[in-house]
Amino acid sequence: MQADSALAASIHHLGKDYVLASETVRALHDVSFDVPRGDFISIMGPSGSGKSTLLNLLGCLDQPTSGNYWLGGEDVGSMNDDQLSETRALRIGFVFQSYNLLPALSVVENIEVPLYYSGRLSPAMRARCLDLAKMVGLESRLSHRPSQLSGGQQQRVAIARSLVNDPQFMLADEPTGNLDSKTSAEILELLRKLNDEGRTIILVTHEADVAEQTVRSIFLRDGSIVSDERH
Ligand code: ADP
Ligand code: MG
Repeated sequence: MQADSALAASIHHLGKDYVLASETVRALHDVSFDVPRGDFISIMGPSGSGKSTLLNLLGCLDQPTSGNYWLGGEDVGSMNDDQLSETRALRIGFVFQSYNLLPALSVVENIEVPLYYSGRLSPAMRARCLDLAKMVGLESRLSHRPSQLSGGQQQRVAIARSLVNDPQFMLADEPTGNLDSKTSAEILELLRKLNDEGRTIILVTHEADVAEQTVRSIFLRDGSIVSDERH
């Protein structure tokens, strides 16, 4: 199959089964959609419908049971473990509901964490982390620990951390799930800004007012797409 370079990603007949001792759970079944560069998609659906499973596949955190996934024209299914971890580290930004910050590290140090893993910590990259902290509005909190920050501020740190390697593809699983509605709106505003800069964003949410801020919503039910609409 030919890769289309106008697409950030392309998902063809993706399926995921979890094989347990007593049964096989069909978490995703025949899921197909294209993601044009710069798209801003919300994935919605009831609990257990396969949202996180899909996001994990898109993030190369797990492999599908069937089907194909092209990321920027490359077949993820043909990547070896090293290529998969490099893809995750350099090309995809992850944001989670629970922030996943390291409690003993300051704001700036948390943002620097991906650089330790990829061995890319340099004065220039340190300066970039400082810029990212400012960009997300935390210039007056640089030395704070996560426990000294509000939920919204912690999520800002996590977003800054996800941007360290300048990924063009961002994945967020319920990024506002632990936040009040005003703080949610601020985090959404930040994601919209990143999307305006050209980044492709896919976020999972079960809140309609969050989905309204995106440009396209894909609904899952029982592991299948039941609707895919632009709004
Ligand atoms: P959602 O994020 O929409 O709530 P998930 O993707 O987490 O849904 O789960 C989809 C289905 O797959 C559910 O039935 C869930 O129980 C099952 N599932 C998810 N992860 C696993 C796993 N690691 N092992 C077995 N079953 C799983
Ligand atoms: Mg989930």
